[in-house]
Amino acid sequence: MHEPPSDTQRPLACLHGCGALRELYYDGIMIDVCPSCRGVWLDKSELPALIKRRDQQWSDQLIDHVLSTLGQGGIPAEELAQQRHCPLCHTHMDAVNYQGNSGVIIDTCPKGHGVWLDHNELGKIRIFMAHWQRINHATKPA
Ligand SMILES: [Zn+2]
Ligand SMILES: [Zn+2]
Repeated sequence: MHEPPSDTQRPLACLHGCGALRELYYDGIMIDVCPSCRGVWLDKSELPALIKRRDQQWSDQLIDHVLSTLGQGGIPAEELAQQRHCPLCHTHMDAVNYQGNSGVIIDTCPKGHGVWLDHNELGKIRIFMAHWQRINHATKPA
């Protein structure tokens, strides 16, 4: 084990105030997971690696349900009102619509420390990335 960067204090605290995040290896990628609310903290470089994984299978029903709620641009007012702070630098996190129009809102540290995903957001992003073509079809006027 080599020394982590000096600004890395582990364990990190859950952004929802639940307590300490638990470090977990997810097929070689270290992620920090909250055992209470199941939110996930990822270093920015880890997000694309996790999204590319195609190990998980979803039922068509779940995919349809998730896609019906996704594909929206913009950021809902309630997401902008969230007060979440980076567990490393305590800067206010920016709410970002993943890919601009996925409809999945993630929180990112403006200083680049990482991103916070609520418990179902990683699944939503992965479903979006794997099946976004179906959103385009669904929203085209008949
Ligand atoms: Zn939590
Ligand atoms: Zn930060």
